[in-house]
Amino acid sequence: MEIFRAPRVTLVARPEFLEPEHLKVQWQGQASGGERLAEYAGRICYMSQHNPAGRSTAEYLENIKKQGHGSVLEHAVYVLLIEGISRSCSHELVRHRAGFGYSQLSQRYVDESHAAFVMPPAILGDAALEAAWEQQVTEAQAAYVRTVQALLERYSWVADKGHRRKMAREAARSVLPNATEVKIVVSANARAWRTMLELRCGEGAELEIRRMAVAVLRCLQQEAGALFSDFEIYVADDKLEAARVEYHKV
Ligand SMILES: Cc1cc2nc3c(=O)[nH]c(=O)nc-3n(C[C@H](O)[C@H](O)[C@H](O)COP(=O)(O)OP(=O)(O)OC[C@H]3O[C@@H](n4cnc5c(N)ncnc54)[C@H](O)[C@@H]3O)c2cc1C
Repeated sequence: MEIFRAPRVTLVARPEFLEPEHLKVQWQGQASGGERLAEYAGRICYMSQHNPAGRSTAEYLENIKKQGHGSVLEHAVYVLLIEGISRSCSHELVRHRAGFGYSQLSQRYVDESHAAFVMPPAILGDAALEAAWEQQVTEAQAAYVRTVQALLERYSWVADKGHRRKMAREAARSVLPNATEVKIVVSANARAWRTMLELRCGEGAELEIRRMAVAVLRCLQQEAGALFSDFEIYVADDKLEAARVEYHKV
C-alpha cells in the first residue's frame, strides 16, 4: 500500500502572454508570461504603456498588491495537479469557489482497491501512532474490497458491466476513510490563489491543508514570484511550516 507523507504539486498550465504589436509596453526586467499579462492589464487602465516611472514588472506588481488592485491579478490563471492529499483535505480545498475550477478523481468510477492513503501530519513521526493508523486504513480498504465484491454479486442481474461496477463502487466507497488519497486538477487565477493561500497557510488552518497550501505557495512563487513574493514561509511554534502575507486579500 502506498502511503503519502507529503503532497505532490505540479504546475500543468501557465499563462502565455501574446503582446499586441500595436500596443506594446516598455518593459523593465525579466518576468514570466503571467506577470507580464497582469502588468499589461494594469497598464491599460491608465494607458501607461510608456512606463513613466521606469518600473520593472516586479516593482509594478508590488505596487498593485500594495494598493489592493487585485482585479488585474485575475487575468493570470495557473493550473496545478495536486496529488497526495486526502479526501478530507480536498473537501476543504474545494470550498474555495471564486475564481477556482476543479476536476477530482471520481470514487464512483475509479477502483479504490489499491488506493493510496495520506498520513496526517499529526501522526507522522510517532512509530506507534503510524503503525496503528496503517493497520486501520488497511482494514478499511479490505472492507471496501469485500463490499465491492458483495455488491457486484448482488447486482449481477444488471446487464451493463460498467454500470454495475459504478453501483458497487459508489456504495462501497462509504467505508473508505477520509485519508484516502485523491488527485485533483485545480485552476485558479492569481487573486483567487492568494486568497486561498492566506487562509490555508495560516497557523489556524488544519495541518494537512496547511502543508498542501505551503507546497502550492512554493510552486507558485517559483513560477511567478512577483505575484506571490509577499508571502513569507516560516516555521511556526508547532514546528511546522506556515506562511504569512504582507498585503491581505487584494
Ligand atoms: C481555519 C478555517 C476553518 C474553517 N472551518 C470551517 C467549518 O468549520 N465549517 C465550514 O463549513 N467551513 C469552514 N471553513 C471554510 C470557510 O467557511 C470557507 O468556506 C472557505 O475558507 C472558503 O472561503 P470563501 O468562501 O471566502 O472563499 P471563496 O468561495 O473562494 O470566496 C472568496 C471571496 O469571494 C466572495 N464571495 C464568494 N462567494 C460569495 C457569495 N456567494 N456571496 C458573496 N460573496 C461571495 C467573498 O468575499 C469571499 O471571501 C474554514 C476555513 C478555514 C480557513
